[in-house]
Amino acid sequence: AGKPFQVFTPYWKRCLAEPEPTEPLPAPIKLPIPTNWPDSILLDDLKLDPKTKWAEGLRTAWQPGETGAKANLKRFLTEEFSDYSKRRNRPDIAGTSRLSPHLHFGEISPRQIWHAVRNAKPSNSDEGAWRSSQFITELGWREFAHHLLFHFPQTPAEPLRTNFKHFPWREDAAWLSAWQKGQTGYPIVDAGMRELWATGWMHNRVRMIVASFLVKDLLIAWQAGARWFWDTLVDADLAQNTLGWQWSAGCGADAAPYFRIFNPVLQGEKFDPNGGYVRQWCPELGRLNDRWLHRPWEAPSQILAQAGIDLGGNYPKPIVSHSIAREVALDAYTRMKSSQPI
Ligand code: FAD
Repeated sequence: AGKPFQVFTPYWKRCLAEPEPTEPLPAPIKLPIPTNWPDSILLDDLKLDPKTKWAEGLRTAWQPGETGAKANLKRFLTEEFSDYSKRRNRPDIAGTSRLSPHLHFGEISPRQIWHAVRNAKPSNSDEGAWRSSQFITELGWREFAHHLLFHFPQTPAEPLRTNFKHFPWREDAAWLSAWQKGQTGYPIVDAGMRELWATGWMHNRVRMIVASFLVKDLLIAWQAGARWFWDTLVDADLAQNTLGWQWSAGCGADAAPYFRIFNPVLQGEKFDPNGGYVRQWCPELGRLNDRWLHRPWEAPSQILAQAGIDLGGNYPKPIVSHSIAREVALDAYTRMKSSQPI
């Protein structure tokens, strides 16, 4: 139609119909160095290392650079790739590649990954199967994010669907801070926000859950969430972060409709069924049994006491009731639609 794609499936179908990306060239044997070096300063003089110790968890979780990128790709292809589509939604298991920061910083390229996947496929496998695999499709979402940012450069700040400019967002510093600190009282949300703070990364499924919670349960504007992710993610990427947040808020290209609201309890029970993820990041809930783990406020007081949990003490009570927040969000959405000029 002569316009940029705004729906992923036709976009990706079109990309796959193009000739395959060529294999990257090997690293050069020798790099010519300048005969006269420009004046410079020492790396230490830039004072990039933080004085406070907040980056310790990031150091433990990541090996920055090409070596770390290649190690993650190798591990992923040998251990995870074949079961990726089954396991990719489970934050309690290492089912994804963790290549996002390496891709963002150019420590590995999508072309290298494409050819590594092609070369790793079993020799008897169907040629088309790996190209249409879920993992390659996710790389396609990365491309789509960059395509959108290129064509709609205003979207890091403004909704792609302009009717969302009229959405009645709320400003609530206390709720925003509770969300940022992983103190909302919803275990899967809190686990995700704490994983983000500690490691600079969060599982994709949990990113969707915490984003939905911010924009739908708390009615806080997606831009506030995107800013926090921008400051804390090791893979913070303007194109992908914008796509992820606008998708979650229902105001972007090919987005989840606003009225489809994630229930954080059901999401937790479905994708962290044995509670391994919540127990890792919210250790104060560690002794609570699976039945109540994702809904501690419903547990009988005796069970809470036995598990050493004091709701409102060592773990917060839910800051909002999801069922009420859901109705309020749907009402705000209806008000936005009716405030539009006809
Ligand atoms: P894998 O599942 O192994 O996927 C491989 C690669 O495909 C990823 O490294 C990534 O480059 C790409 N990819 C996977 N899922 C997506 C997706 N949904 N959208 C776009 N590309 C994807 N990703 C970022 O790299 N930077 C961000 O700032 C970012 N912000 C996000 C914000 C929100 C609210 C949401 C919902 C998602 C965001 N994502 C972002 C997308 C996604 O969560 C991460 O790319 C993914 O979790 C990275 O983990 P991985 O490398 O193990 O992914």
